[in-house]
Amino acid sequence: SDSGESDRALPNILITGTPGTGKTSLAEISAQATRLTHIDVSALVKENSLHSGYDEEFDTLVLDDDKLVDELEEKVSQGGKIVDFHSCEVFPERWFDLVLVLRTDNTILYDRLVERGYNQNKITENIDCEIFQVVLEEARESYPEEIVVELQSNSVEDMESNLSRIQQWSQLEGLALAH
Ligand code: ADP
Ligand code: MN
Repeated sequence: SDSGESDRALPNILITGTPGTGKTSLAEISAQATRLTHIDVSALVKENSLHSGYDEEFDTLVLDDDKLVDELEEKVSQGGKIVDFHSCEVFPERWFDLVLVLRTDNTILYDRLVERGYNQNKITENIDCEIFQVVLEEARESYPEEIVVELQSNSVEDMESNLSRIQQWSQLEGLALAH
């Protein structure tokens, strides 16, 4: 394992969860409210072609794990990053000080994915992923249990309480904005 004390001056957060649970929304407002810098990994994968092609059946890009980790290593090692991605087992354990797993009720998630224009295969795949807690299990297997936190993300009230949790944490870690 490559866990243990890091050399980072500033800590990092991972926000993970099934697509549509609200990772990017929460990461964006959290970056505005703290000194954390948001890294939207899905956008980065597309922009920098960190994939090995397109999977038609699931209408998704096939991730190139090595390229992705190489691309992120320097930025994340600096610390102060809020990394947003729907998977987490690809990242080294040592990168993160806090791992937030967003959860959304099926019917709410379904509507969000329809609104996003996903095809039926992709909607079913993602709803199953949420029902079977795939990302939560993955996070619990990949990181120390004391840094993995499950957060509900069904409503605007949830988003606000998740934001305030990140703000409190960033205060403890010296990442709060001066007011
Ligand atoms: P992800 O990055 O996990 O795929 P997004 O942040 O893009 O999810 O959010 C998907 C959709 O759900 C967006 O339309 C967003 O406005 C909405 N949304 C996200 N989080 C919440 C929440 N806590 N309550 C209500 N709507 C939300
Ligand atoms: Mn997103």
